[in-house]
Amino acid sequence: MHAEQQRRAYLQAMGVDVWLPRDEPKEAPAATRAVATDNPDWPELRECVASCTRCVLSQSRSNTVFGVGNTDADWLIIGEAPGAEEDRRGEPFVGRAGQLLDQMLFAIGQSRDRVFIANILKCRPPDNRDPKPEEAAACREYLDRQIALVRPRIILAVGRIAAQNLLGSDAPVGRLRGRAHSLDGIPLVVTYHPAYLLRSPSQKGKAWSDLCLAKRLAAEAGA
Ligand code: URA
Repeated sequence: MHAEQQRRAYLQAMGVDVWLPRDEPKEAPAATRAVATDNPDWPELRECVASCTRCVLSQSRSNTVFGVGNTDADWLIIGEAPGAEEDRRGEPFVGRAGQLLDQMLFAIGQSRDRVFIANILKCRPPDNRDPKPEEAAACREYLDRQIALVRPRIILAVGRIAAQNLLGSDAPVGRLRGRAHSLDGIPLVVTYHPAYLLRSPSQKGKAWSDLCLAKRLAAEAGA
């Protein structure tokens, strides 16, 4: 049996609805499958991400990095893309930048378990290069569905790639941070990426004020 047919047979045996484009012919090649069309729930979405071949990054990844945390969180943290360690472990923000992110969360009374952490990309770009627009576009539907499922009260975009992609802007972080934005009605705050803060610790004060702003907006939104 073809690997993809086998995967579907397993899913069906487990009672998981197989998620396909409405008009897709049954024999379409694997690369066009696992496309988000309806409103998948968490297990379906995880399965679609795990088997995604929408862009070339699927060829070089070790693991997809779906996201981690509380699927009912008030806070949604969105970063850029997995790095080497994240690719190896399949979890976002587990390197040095992740440790600093954990400290930032602790400082505002949150934790990795209480928030949900995701990235613009679910797969690692080789050599940690910037995500390409077509890669971000291919992955966007997954992130949008995560946002819809979590229904956060506040989104914290960490770093330039997250901020620019979410806001559809090419402005630098220095111009986007420090004020309230909105993503489909959800308050959104931009701050510096923890990897940048590790290189430029003098900017930590600004990141702290961004976190305080986000905390205030979250409280106003009922968090
Ligand atoms: N940097 C990110 O933006 N995301 C990760 O998951 C790890 C590092």
